[in-house]
This record gives sequence, structure tokens and C-alpha cells, in this order.
Amino acid sequence: MDAFEKLEKVGEGTYGKVYRAREKATGKIVALKKTRLHEDEEGVPPTTLREVSLLRMLSRDPHVVRLMDVKQGQNKEGKTVLYLVFEYMDTDLKKFIRSYRQTGDIPPNIVKSLMYQLCKGVAFCHGHGVLHRDLKPHNLLMDRKTMMLKIADLGLARAYTVPIKKYTHEILTLWYRAPEVLMGGTHYSTGVDMWSVGCIFAELVTKQALFPGDSELQQLLHIFRLLGTPNEKVWPGVSKLPNWHEYPQWSPQPLSSAVPNLDEKGLNLLAEMLQYEPTKRISAKKAMEHPYFDDLDKSLL
Ligand code: AMP
Repeated sequence: MDAFEKLEKVGEGTYGKVYRAREKATGKIVALKKTRLHEDEEGVPPTTLREVSLLRMLSRDPHVVRLMDVKQGQNKEGKTVLYLVFEYMDTDLKKFIRSYRQTGDIPPNIVKSLMYQLCKGVAFCHGHGVLHRDLKPHNLLMDRKTMMLKIADLGLARAYTVPIKKYTHEILTLWYRAPEVLMGGTHYSTGVDMWSVGCIFAELVTKQALFPGDSELQQLLHIFRLLGTPNEKVWPGVSKLPNWHEYPQWSPQPLSSAVPNLDEKGLNLLAEMLQYEPTKRISAKKAMEHPYFDDLDKSLL
């Protein structure tokens, strides 16, 4: 790791710290992500190596943050650590949204472009059989100049130990979590990511989280208050999920009540992303073809 000069900590993900660093040989600025491996492992387990090569492959997509290199090292206790070297991005969607809170709405064409890029990156990952499982504004990186969006924090879940909660002030957010995950479903699929994409869509328009729950139950109740309490009719199998309870009954509200500044086509796409039944949720690939994106210049994306 002598090849890099650590500059400052730029963030903390679920699994470890991220530093801005300079590659001494080239002067290039990169993001270094230090990840611990399982405590009981000696060296790098083969599953981790597979995950890393998967990550490398996924990062060929322009909307996935580029993994440039992987270096193995040791921490003070002699435990193996991996340093993932990523291209450096100057902001993330959470900061970007926050920067508009004082100044007004994010221009609709920018919302559209960011959403298209997000769908494109997610479609690429899903096309390669990889779920993200934790999409949120915090791990969507951006280049402010070019308005390019890239998905980060991908796919290494199995290479890490359990999420390191203790050193982050931020509680693991539930806001983007799909209802089937909240209800304890274990056979979830690409729909979990599309739910998150829908929540992010609404947040880009309103600059406020769509479902800001602070516990798993509160999270579900937030969802139910807008979309109606689900039942076997709208979501066959829901009452068989492990955490299913009897809930207060709400009827569905129009999405426009929560996202008033979104046009008809946008609301229609959002509704397709927020379907209760996971298999009915629109896929990322289909979402890219949705009429909402018809007037977007896609040639540069
Ligand atoms: P992550 O663990 O990937 O979600 O990253 C946590 C935080 O670290 C992000 O929200 C960013 O603020 C920062 N970060 C992660 N990757 C990069 C990168 N490639 N360039 C710049 N900042 C990053």
C-alpha cells in the first residue's frame, strides 16, 4: 500500500472506510476502500476472489463505479485486509439532493437523466445475475460536471464480514428496503433493487425520502399508508411471509399526493416500480424503454 498516499476519509460504507488517496507513481486521485475479511480466514478466500473478479467485470459498465485494482495487505493485528482501488468520484446522490434543498427543485431533465443512468447500471448488473440489495442515494456516486451517475458498494456482500455498524453514526437505513425483505422473505430477487430505484426516483423529485421509517415496522407502515395495506388479493402469498402480522388497514393513495411535481408518465413509471408483488415490478431493462424517457437524449449516456 506504499504505492498510495492516503489523503482523507471521504466516507463510510456499510462494510468499511473509504479514503481519497493519491497514487504516488502517477499522481492520480483514487478512492481506496479498505475491507476486512472474515476473521477466521487465512489469506483471501476463493469466494472473495470470485466476487472481486465479478466486481471487476461489472465495473466495465459506465454506470458502475470502476474498480481499477485490488491490493492485499495486513492490518496492525496481522489480519488480511483487501484494498479496493476505485476511480474517484466527487460526490454522491445524497449530497447532490441535499444541495438542492435550499435552492429549489432538481431540474426535471436532470432527474430523468439520473434515473435513466441508474436503470441502465442496474440492468447491467441484473443482466449478469447480480443483485445490489442496498441501493440508496448514499452509494450512487456522481460526477457533478458531467452529471454521470455510477453505482457503488456492489456485490461484495459475501466477501465481507457482517456489516460494521458500530463505527458509523448513520444507522443502516431501511428507507429503500422492499416490503418483501422487511417482511422477512428470503427468496427475493431483482425486484428488491427496483423497489429501491422507485424510492430514489421519488426522492429526486421531492428531495425528501419517500418512506423514512426508523424501524422495520415503521418502515412498513410508511409504505402501507401510501400504497394501502397489502392483502392476498394485491399480493398473493403476502400473509405467508415470516414477519406478516395483522396491520392497520389503509387504502391506497394516489402517488401524486406524495410526489406532486412528477408528470403523468413519471408517476406511471414510479407506480410500476412500487408494485407490491415483486414479480410484477418493472425490470430495469423495461424501465429504460418506458415512455417517461422518450424525450431524453440518450446518446451521451
Ligand atoms: P460505499 O461504501 O461505496 O457506499 O461508500 C461510502 C461513501 O464513501 C460514499 O457515499 C461516498 O461518499 C464515498 N465513496 C465511495 N466510493 C467512492 C469513490 N469511488 N469515489 C469517491 N467517494 C467514494
